[in-house]
Amino acid sequence: MPKKYTAQCACGAVKFAFDRDPTFVANCHCNDCKRASGGEMATFFAVPADDFDLLSGQPKAFHYVANSGNGLDRNFCPDCGSRVFTSNLDGFPGAVFVQLGSLDRPDLIAPKLEMFTARRLDWNRPLDLPQFDGMPN
Ligand SMILES: [Zn+2]
Ligand SMILES: [Zn+2]
Repeated sequence: MPKKYTAQCACGAVKFAFDRDPTFVANCHCNDCKRASGGEMATFFAVPADDFDLLSGQPKAFHYVANSGNGLDRNFCPDCGSRVFTSNLDGFPGAVFVQLGSLDRPDLIAPKLEMFTARRLDWNRPLDLPQFDGMPN
């Protein structure tokens, strides 16, 4: 049976899917997310690794150490350069962090909190969601 959520990079070479509704969905305003996404923030959510199926493509992983000191692998499509998911994040074993914009139906998942709000730029307004200066606790 096809999984509930499907996602892909901009050129469609990398495709993946998962079933479970994510419980951790964050708008992250940290500088790492700014740099990696090229935007003011990134919206991402955690998917259990055992629910995450890579259906096609061979994403390339770039190992990176965030400002927090945690290492992680940013996975992107080597053909079109889209950033698609993060894996091997220190402190979060067994989780894959998916970028919301990769979803075929991004309207199905909405953020539940905002984090690293200390880095939010002045022109951006808080959403009506729990706000965390840094990492949620
Ligand atoms: Zn691609
Ligand atoms: Zn971030």
